[in-house]
Amino acid sequence: LTTAQHTAQEERLVVAVRVRPSQEATDRCIEVVSSSSLLYDDGGKSRPRQYSYDHVFRENDTQEYVYKTTTAPLVRDVLNGYNAAVFAYGATGSGKTHTMLGPVPRKKPATADRPPATAASSYDGDVSSHDTGLMVRAIEDIFEHIESASADNSCKVSISYLEIYNELIRDLLNPGGPLELREDHRGQRITVAGLSEITTSSRKEVVGLLMKGNKSRTMEPTAANQTSSRSHALLSITVQTRTPLGTKQGRLFLTDLAGSERAKKTKNRGKRLQEGAHINRSLLALGNCINALSGGARYVNYRDSKLTRLLKEALSGRCKTVMIAHVAPEGKHRDETKNTLVYADRAN
Ligand code: ADP
Ligand code: MG
Repeated sequence: LTTAQHTAQEERLVVAVRVRPSQEATDRCIEVVSSSSLLYDDGGKSRPRQYSYDHVFRENDTQEYVYKTTTAPLVRDVLNGYNAAVFAYGATGSGKTHTMLGPVPRKKPATADRPPATAASSYDGDVSSHDTGLMVRAIEDIFEHIESASADNSCKVSISYLEIYNELIRDLLNPGGPLELREDHRGQRITVAGLSEITTSSRKEVVGLLMKGNKSRTMEPTAANQTSSRSHALLSITVQTRTPLGTKQGRLFLTDLAGSERAKKTKNRGKRLQEGAHINRSLLALGNCINALSGGARYVNYRDSKLTRLLKEALSGRCKTVMIAHVAPEGKHRDETKNTLVYADRAN
């Protein structure tokens, strides 16, 4: 590879690892040693092993810093008419939803004098909160760019939010039955038939929609975690700009992937074991696509899962992809943490 080719490739795929704050004082399996490397300790069986990535986020790195480093550069691209994608990968409890959405209001059990809170009403609408995740930050950033760039109404921003659960697509903004993928005759353009596409210019409305949508995600209790999320949640933000030469369109996909833990670990039986198999199939397909991209392969198979078919337009061509792999630092999560470090290392 020439240096120029190598640089172009590096820009196409960025792999970051984010370590979430430890929830226990002792027994750690991760030490961050720099802004691009960390040490993994297998519990004393062998010497700690060093892993390097484009970025390593440590426990007290802010949401703003993670946004600026990973997603802000993609927003520039999207405003220029390109597609881009950000993925949050990791086991359940490793911090994926925190990164993408921020703290999610806890569901309190309803009582006679306290009706169940809706996600939108229990969220205080403080969009500029310190903990706000990448999804809202990206939308805010897009609005800000548009407002500072043009006084006229030449830009339109719309969002859709869906989940893929058991290889079925559901609309999170307007929950109902499963939706079908449609392909044009050449298999080039893929759309989801009947998916709501909401045009908005209100930050507060967007936050309400995302929180409400997140609440509609399919949750199933597993032995690994009571609120394990078994679905992939995919937000797409489309920016259309009218120019003298026509309309240009860029799209940013932000994906909160399903927990990457293995079916065998969650002691799943029957229905949940099948979920595990589907989840692993999409994660595997995604891993293979990203792997092929990082290796500069000419042929990438997007057809293996709904996730990769939907994301094709953001994983191909000139588009940029950011993978943020999430790990838990506690010793008891050693195995899952190792699996995630290896997955991210393969992608790197
Ligand atoms: P996941 O979506 O991967 O299952 P969550 O995002 O729900 O994991 O995170 C698990 C818990 O850890 C939540 O209580 C969350 O608020 C907390 N958490 C995760 N990452 C961070 C972080 N960077 N800073 C503070 N709290 C975090
Ligand atoms: Mg989650």
